[in-house]
Amino acid sequence: MKRFATQLVFFLLLLNPVLCNARQEPTALPSGDERYKTDILLVVAHPDDEGAATPYLARALDEHKRVAVVFGTRGSSGANEAGAEQAAALGAVREIEARNALTTLGITNVWFLGGKDTASQNVLLSLANWDHGESLAQLVRLVRLTRPEVILTFLPGTFIGEDHGDHQASGLLATEAFDLAGDPVAFPEQVAGPTKRLEPYLENLRPWQPKKIYYFPDADREDIFRGKGPDYSVKEISKSSKLPYWRLGLDSFRSHQTQAKVFLDKVAQMDEAQIEKMATSDSFWTESLHFVLGKSLVGGSVTGDIFEDITPGAIPFARPEVSPEPARPELSVELGGSYSFYVEFRRAHGLTNLPHPEPPEIALQGHTTMVIPLWVRNRTAKTQEISIAATLPAGWTAQTGTGKFTVAAKQVAAARIEVMLPAVPENETKKPEPQEVSVRADSNGQSIGEIKLRVELR
Ligand SMILES: [Zn+2]
Repeated sequence: MKRFATQLVFFLLLLNPVLCNARQEPTALPSGDERYKTDILLVVAHPDDEGAATPYLARALDEHKRVAVVFGTRGSSGANEAGAEQAAALGAVREIEARNALTTLGITNVWFLGGKDTASQNVLLSLANWDHGESLAQLVRLVRLTRPEVILTFLPGTFIGEDHGDHQASGLLATEAFDLAGDPVAFPEQVAGPTKRLEPYLENLRPWQPKKIYYFPDADREDIFRGKGPDYSVKEISKSSKLPYWRLGLDSFRSHQTQAKVFLDKVAQMDEAQIEKMATSDSFWTESLHFVLGKSLVGGSVTGDIFEDITPGAIPFARPEVSPEPARPELSVELGGSYSFYVEFRRAHGLTNLPHPEPPEIALQGHTTMVIPLWVRNRTAKTQEISIAATLPAGWTAQTGTGKFTVAAKQVAAARIEVMLPAVPENETKKPEPQEVSVRADSNGQSIGEIKLRVELR
């Protein structure tokens, strides 16, 4: 029986020229699909958010750059100005509006992460509502599929401005994906080769390290972003269409009927000069689009062109440089929630030069409750008594969270001050000035820290 098996193997070897022939012809293995290779990957939260960058995208397309777009959600919340559909049905409509808006510019590689709209300015709530892990895996997959040279996205941070938590989440996920997509051990199932011909699980993508990431701020104040990245005029004339870039952006925006029918109908009644004045005003694109350089792995200057020093081809994976944790005293108090998260986030992703307001700031609706989240750290060997007091503008009242507390030895405790905000008078027409809130913490009659926060009432 054994002898028969040996003879059979010998016979098969004779029949199989590949196994017998020492000099075989090489077979080309499939490589990444070129139809999806991009130069710019735009990552935003909702349908219509792409409008923050469309005049620049139109310019990049003129320069034969390939552009793809990822949306965090389908935009299933808010008023419908064009029809009766709401909720998930509205999301289904808005997906098509976003695709049509981008097709107008010539962009057809568009994906949705499947997150849900979150009515909040707290990025952590948006991440929870988007199923952070699932969304990140999908975005890393799309970076590996599209192999962008550059990622453009919202600036992750808390500011007085529109500052939607979902906008922040898109910028945060884009930053995480920038740092993970090139890492062969991050989501390894995506970069594993197939184990059989019709592999159903492993994806056969390759790791990809994007070269630069730029942010666009969602904040009212612009002073802290000046000189932090390049500016692109929206009034310049497109080489291909002979129209100004703001006009191409506006033509693309026309698809967003469910979000902006009233506005678009008004624009349809205006003459060209009025439309230009509106589109280039402070409440729209202003005269130029401004980007903030997050990081570049290929050099180039801060305010230079987005593609400065970018050459074709892959670059090695670069693990972000984590700056050291700041030294803390034995007893300390600091802002918690998304405020402290962003401090850690900037440190962990090598974004220490990313502009952020100091003191931290936020805009809130009047007649609501403001929550000031705190971390109280006791690294000493005994229980400590801490007293917390808040200094508030007239008419603002601390409801809970001030007074005396104990924190056990070697413990970090979360605390929370809740402040009832006054209503903003209805006839208030001038823009409100941000007010300063300060929180003091003492132990044994000694200050262990003071926190300041700028708050604008809306
Ligand atoms: Zn949005």
